[in-house]
Amino acid sequence: MKDEVLILGGGVAGCAASIALARKGRRVTLIERETTPRHKVCGEFLSGEALEDLHALGIDVASLGAVPLDHVRLAAAHRAAEAPLPFPAASLTRKALDTALIAEAHAAGVRMECGRSVQALSRTANNGWQATLDDGTTREAPVVFLATGKHDLRGYSRPTDPHKWVAFKMYFKLSPTQAAELTGASELMLYPGGYGGIQPVEDGMANLCCVIQHKHLPSGGHRWENFLAKMQKDCPHLAMRLDGAVPLLEKPLAITHIPYGYIRRTTEDGLYCIGDQAAVIPSFTGDGISIALHTARCAVTAYLAAEPAPVFQAKLRSAMLPQMRLAEIAADGLNNSFARAVLPFCLRVWPGVMRVTAKLTRITQQGVVTPQTVIS
Ligand SMILES: Cc1cc2nc3c(=O)[nH]c(=O)nc-3n(C[C@H](O)[C@H](O)[C@H](O)COP(=O)(O)OP(=O)(O)OC[C@H]3O[C@@H](n4cnc5c(N)ncnc54)[C@H](O)[C@@H]3O)c2cc1C
Repeated sequence: MKDEVLILGGGVAGCAASIALARKGRRVTLIERETTPRHKVCGEFLSGEALEDLHALGIDVASLGAVPLDHVRLAAAHRAAEAPLPFPAASLTRKALDTALIAEAHAAGVRMECGRSVQALSRTANNGWQATLDDGTTREAPVVFLATGKHDLRGYSRPTDPHKWVAFKMYFKLSPTQAAELTGASELMLYPGGYGGIQPVEDGMANLCCVIQHKHLPSGGHRWENFLAKMQKDCPHLAMRLDGAVPLLEKPLAITHIPYGYIRRTTEDGLYCIGDQAAVIPSFTGDGISIALHTARCAVTAYLAAEPAPVFQAKLRSAMLPQMRLAEIAADGLNNSFARAVLPFCLRVWPGVMRVTAKLTRITQQGVVTPQTVIS
């Protein structure tokens, strides 16, 4: 029997789409290459919009241990400034979030095939789709949602990343003094060639997630110790935070090739591209999860309304273009040495800059959920 919808990738976007479709009575099969969710390179900041969408999907982030965040702190060179966040926010490890999403998809009746990787996607003779899995078997469906995140399927690649971004993530147990200083804060730290974020997550851990253009990596290439030492030298605020901290992973997680600013232009009939396969916003906005949820919701609505995938993809692109371009301009600003020098000073004088930037670089949502309903 042919499945009605095949979802490739069981991260945020894939799970969200599969839950929504299954709840509308559609027959859905989701293929995820990992057997169980693992830690992922991600700052794990959940914006107000992400919290709203997760709430609507039935995910209670508070019960998963999400940590409420209410202010943002920007640090560069020897200066730091802070401002309240203009929306409710929280942080939660991706392992916990993805586990909850997979469980919700299962409960909604989605047929899950975890531990199977999709190797190829091709057209069938009757204009449907065929996915070939790593064990050589195939799955067919008239409609596919492509949600493989940063991983491209052969034949459906996004453009290469000219800056050759490299991203690292490490969990730390901070000293009691530094952990207390970080309470309720999402900190953004600037240094030449990139930026990093540190914030508390559940179980008393702090997540340090940072990106840097390859040409700015210190000699020693991808060695984490060298990069960490350089970041602390360039941003003494980070050195202070990590004073007495204990790393909690044996080695950091790392990824390369992040096509920031990408928005998919076109697609083929019956192929809805969502999450990072639809758009990749600069990480400092902390809005990628929200975009994954938003694009999944829009694609499901389009599919249920029989809107052809190419029409959906073009509409999504025009709707997201302004925020994406603003986020890119802001990201270029953060990477400018003059801006790095004056930004924290400006923020002390006018903390509203941070609130305005945060609002402008966010994808607008329809529903309204009060902070109290999301994080108790
Ligand atoms: C450095 C960095 C920091 C970030 N920080 C934040 C942040 O703080 N807040 C925020 O909101 N966003 C952040 N993001 C962005 C966010 O992580 C992504 O936008 C979001 O995870 C995209 O969701 P997705 O569902 O598209 O992809 P993912 O959540 O990555 O899911 C894709 C899934 O597809 C599976 N998959 C891949 N290939 C295959 C295959 N061939 N077959 C089967 N399954 C496959 C993968 O295993 C994975 O589970 C950050 C990104 C980076 C790079």
